[in-house]
Amino acid sequence: MSLTYTMDSLTNPNYTAIADVMLPHTQNTFWHEFHEVSKSTPQLNYFEKLWMAWYAFIGNDVLATGIMSFLMHEIVYFGRSLPWMIIDRIPAFNKYKIQNQKVPSAKEQWDCAKLVLLSHFTVELPQIWFFHPMAQFVGLETGVPFPSLFTMAYQIAIFFVLEDTWHYWSHRALHWGPLYKNIHKIHHQYSAPFGLAAEYASPLEVMILGLGSVGPPILWCAVTKDLHILTMYVWIVLRLSQAIDSHSGYEFPWSLHHFLPFWAGADHHDTHHEKFIGNYSSSFRWWDYVLDTESGPEAAQRRRERKIANAKKAQ
Ligand SMILES: [Zn+2]
Ligand SMILES: [Zn+2]
Repeated sequence: MSLTYTMDSLTNPNYTAIADVMLPHTQNTFWHEFHEVSKSTPQLNYFEKLWMAWYAFIGNDVLATGIMSFLMHEIVYFGRSLPWMIIDRIPAFNKYKIQNQKVPSAKEQWDCAKLVLLSHFTVELPQIWFFHPMAQFVGLETGVPFPSLFTMAYQIAIFFVLEDTWHYWSHRALHWGPLYKNIHKIHHQYSAPFGLAAEYASPLEVMILGLGSVGPPILWCAVTKDLHILTMYVWIVLRLSQAIDSHSGYEFPWSLHHFLPFWAGADHHDTHHEKFIGNYSSSFRWWDYVLDTESGPEAAQRRRERKIANAKKAQ
């Protein structure tokens, strides 16, 4: 598998030459590792072999996870935002835009992308880097075979519920005067959000709300000792997609909340950006419903009706 270099290779000038003959490290390419893995563990599936080859190729677990996680985050963030940027330029989609008079300009999108990138490299990169040692400390599994689909699905469902709860309370707290003024105001620069603006926020906010995505898996792993890093990756991809889609500004007849009434989606979060109050949760609608913090004209109407009904009852 990957070659390990001893101190000799660093101190003895002749050592490398010998090693070149003895150990053909010029062949230490990703596909060479893949070939070796396939030979030694043919029972693994294709993705498991790719996975093993990647870790063997990099030869350092923290580095291998760090590079893979950061690249994945960037590809998913910008890859998922791109279709929304294209849709913004197609007039036929305008009828689905919730605040259809406010389509973001290319300059607005570019300014937003610049701040998001800065925050990715300065705040999220160190966080992502620290994740592996921290997760390994609590017993995160990084090897093969991968967990079953069922295990991944129920763990991710739990993370969604926990993240939404964390998000509801910390986001609601961020709307308290001093916290809003000093931290959360940046995220509310766009009263009509768009996909790229999902992580347009103060570095402090990225850390506070990001804890909702990273904290539950770490906690889960510390308690149950049953979490694979692949589950973590799928969770992050889904959570990122949820955040970007809920900022997209588009409501379609086929949007998920029409089929899953408790799913929040863009319909829920767009109103939060427009009205600056209410609809604090991220993925689900239940916290806002139960605690009566729903935003928008329909919620206001329901509140009015309830008041009238209560007044009648009191008479
Ligand atoms: Zn807010
Ligand atoms: Zn937002």
